[in-house]
Amino acid sequence: MSGFDYDLFVIGAGSGGVRAARIAARHGAKVAVAEEYRVGGTCVIRGCVPKKLFVYASHFAEAFEDAVGFGWTSEKVAFDWATLVANKDREIERLNKAYVRNLEAAGAELILERATVAGPHSVALASGRQVTARYILVATGATPFLPRHLPGHELAITSNEAFNLERLPARIVIAGGGYIAVEFAGIFSGLGVETVLVCRGEQILRGFDGDLRNHLTAEMKKKGIEIRARSEVTGIARSGDGVRVTLDDGAQFGAGQVMFATGRIPNVTGLGLQDAGVALNPHMAVKVDGYSRSSVPSIYAVGDVTNRVNLTPVAIREGHAFADTVFGGKDVMVDHSLVPTAVFSQPEIGTVGMTEEAARQGFSKVDIYKTSFRPMKHTLSGRDERMLMKLVVDGETDRVLGCHICGPDAGEMAQLLGIAVRMGARKSDFDATLAVHPTAAEELVTLREKWTG
Ligand code: NDP
Repeated sequence: MSGFDYDLFVIGAGSGGVRAARIAARHGAKVAVAEEYRVGGTCVIRGCVPKKLFVYASHFAEAFEDAVGFGWTSEKVAFDWATLVANKDREIERLNKAYVRNLEAAGAELILERATVAGPHSVALASGRQVTARYILVATGATPFLPRHLPGHELAITSNEAFNLERLPARIVIAGGGYIAVEFAGIFSGLGVETVLVCRGEQILRGFDGDLRNHLTAEMKKKGIEIRARSEVTGIARSGDGVRVTLDDGAQFGAGQVMFATGRIPNVTGLGLQDAGVALNPHMAVKVDGYSRSSVPSIYAVGDVTNRVNLTPVAIREGHAFADTVFGGKDVMVDHSLVPTAVFSQPEIGTVGMTEEAARQGFSKVDIYKTSFRPMKHTLSGRDERMLMKLVVDGETDRVLGCHICGPDAGEMAQLLGIAVRMGARKSDFDATLAVHPTAAEELVTLREKWTG
């Protein structure tokens, strides 16, 4: 062995760190993982997992309403927030334990305290102990960004707190127009909270396909969510039990809570990275090469702390690739292109590949196929909700460049479309594929007319 205490010291037991630790240990490395909060990281503890559980919870209100058209009666239904939070906590606890078990089963040592980088090969633990490692992996994730210049910002919550509110407010103002803002707007609104979304851009979800953004905006408004685009929160003041939120146009809202979902910043504060010579980029993310190696050859970083593609499966893939490359004798780089993704908005978004806007910039001939229709379920439920499906095709090669869906189960569809698009599927391959009937997804293989605007 190397003369170091460990072959690998991982800082942060989230998705990327845990995967790297397990795979490195499986390759025979002596591994330690330090975690200052809870094993599982953002995704498991206060991100994807509890969020999806809350999304399920918030769907029931409409499900009860929709059931009436199918002959059910739905009287006396009631929702109890405390039950949801408690059941969610139980599930998180189960997952947290499973993560700990898996790490231990892989032979990694778990150190439940804060660790910081003390040099290219040394790590300082909060308890005062200092250890050495041949490699250090920084996998500390990201943390919510709050505009701290804003008067009253300390009265606002972030998604971290939203998971454990003592009670649901009657009204909430959410600032931001990204994944988290849009998903929580759907959750709160579905749970009966009057919801106002304040977003500084022209539209929600910058970077997503324009048709998707329009479609989702319209559907969210139908559900009663008030979307104030081109607006910013300029001040928050305490008012009674809640807050009074002022916008830049002078509008004011009284609300039980105000939540900021204004992006996330890499968790590097106080980590000792710069003193150890690790270069950060202007967004304070660890600068890494294609192998996740930082400017210090013995220090690597994966996941949100590198601010590449901030999604759990990407962090996992980066952690795995790192461990295979450094400890498994393989040469694995992560391909960050064509990452399928879902926004668990209501209705849901599933997307992979290029937006129409990006395709028109990079390709001389772009064909668009799209359809918007009422999902079959709503013929009886009577709900006024439409689904959107769109294919962006290179008009010269027939290759499908992007698929964009807004509607029920769009995320599930995006996963499978991701395979086809990655394999280089052409529109003619979609056309040659037989439909699964009756489904919504069959629209994807029966789109024949080019959209002419
Ligand atoms: P996003 O980067 O997605 O969105 C941030 C939003 O906040 C944007 O609308 C941005 O506006 C706005 N914003 C930024 N700064 C300010 C400011 N000072 N004042 C007002 N508005 C501001 O971040 P999120 O926090 O929503 O999510 C973080 C990341 O977590 C996502 O990028 C995603 O990668 C990941 N995530 C993934 C999920 C999934 O896979 N389903 C779910 C949740 C999170 P503008 O567009 O104008 O910059």
